[in-house]
Amino acid sequence: MLEMLEESQLQDLPMKQVKCPACGKPATYAGNPDRPFCSERCRLLDLGQWADEGYRIAGKPAAPEQNEYDPGE
Ligand SMILES: [Zn+2]
Repeated sequence: MLEMLEESQLQDLPMKQVKCPACGKPATYAGNPDRPFCSERCRLLDLGQWADEGYRIAGKPAAPEQNEYDPGE
């Protein structure tokens, strides 16, 4: 009984998923500030890829270690 209830609730949620362009993992679209990426980390990673092609963002350190932080959801 309870399991059936939970299942129907899950199906009701608009959990649209997209494929993260950076790592290819499924990323939640709804309520995801980093969409279409799965996480802020992947978003920054992808940003860094095209930024490396002669397009640098001023004010942002290029060191990958400093970009490593959790959004803390
Ligand atoms: Zn990703």
